[in-house]
Amino acid sequence: MKVKVAINGYGTIGKRVADAVSLQDDMEVVGVTKTRPDFEAKLAAKRYPLYVAKPENVELFEKAGIEIQGTIEDLLPKADIVVDCSPNKVGAENKAKYYEKAGIKAIFQGGEKKDVAEVSFNALANYGEAKGKNYVRVVSCNTTGLTRLIYMLKTNFKIGRVRATMLRRVVDPKEDKKGLVNGIMPDPVSIPSHHGPDVKTVLPDVDIVTTAFKLPTTLMHVHALNIEMKEAVKPDDVISVLEQEPRIMLISAEDGFTSTAKVIEFARELRLRYDLFENVVWKESIGVDGNELFVTQAIHQEAIVVPENIDAIRAMLELAERDESMKKTNETLGIQKVF
Ligand code: NAD
Repeated sequence: MKVKVAINGYGTIGKRVADAVSLQDDMEVVGVTKTRPDFEAKLAAKRYPLYVAKPENVELFEKAGIEIQGTIEDLLPKADIVVDCSPNKVGAENKAKYYEKAGIKAIFQGGEKKDVAEVSFNALANYGEAKGKNYVRVVSCNTTGLTRLIYMLKTNFKIGRVRATMLRRVVDPKEDKKGLVNGIMPDPVSIPSHHGPDVKTVLPDVDIVTTAFKLPTTLMHVHALNIEMKEAVKPDDVISVLEQEPRIMLISAEDGFTSTAKVIEFARELRLRYDLFENVVWKESIGVDGNELFVTQAIHQEAIVVPENIDAIRAMLELAERDESMKKTNETLGIQKVF
């Protein structure tokens, strides 16, 4: 029998999670929610049973002639688990208002505070901690990217301090109301940015401090990391470790990957919605100076957390062990070594 998954909030992350759930043979989408009857709601209604996230907005959908199956309160009893993909901090409100009452397991996204859930989750790093839990938070795009890379390094080498700078895309491509047109914004201006402490919710023993800057681009984030190595390593040692992990894609400037613009152009040929679920690491950026390792990676913010949500569902419902779940998710989403 397939696990029944509800998606509350069908925006950038929600629509991708819904499509990824549909690709799995052990789960199915029983419904998605929208707040307003816009073009995304019209498309959603063609693909999935559509419910209204805010019960007070039912009339708007009826007036717009969009077929709905009810409200979030009608959807939850039909599901085994809900993946909350609503905007930052709204997940916590939905938990208090609906999920606790319905007694349903819920996955939250990185825009929520860590105390919304029992566990902050990354499939590679702490799959086992989410087993059987009722509330799990999949950490944000930047934290997912940092966590995967640091996990691979710390499990294969002795590492010390991690210092990382996040160069953040200012908004997602669809956002037309806000943006940074001509400036670079320290965000925040003082250390640390929230990413370092967030990595510690998954990897508590890592000594990490991060700084972050918003840049006028919508395509991807870039991370520049410096990692103290407590044993001698050569760049090739690091490359062979990272090559083993399908959720890390090593690319080369020699192939023409001169910027995130070229990475996204490549992804446009590779995948639906040009989704890159992998950390994209420039091979040439992996350099060692004394006991310091330098790495630069790009993160496609709209896609990277999608496989993590699928694995979180399997962990919470104890459908599979980590490696089996990750393998299945990777295969269905086309995550494989391209180069
Ligand atoms: P989004 O604005 O694209 O989508 C959110 C959707 O939720 C919208 O369709 C909105 O109408 C709907 N919504 C509004 N109020 C709601 C409510 N009360 N109940 C249910 N749905 C409601 O946002 P997003 O980028 O998909 O972000 C969702 C979550 O994922 C946030 O926690 C965010 O921090 C996190 N996240 C976003 C990214 C990213 O780069 N976009 C990456 C990783 C994690």
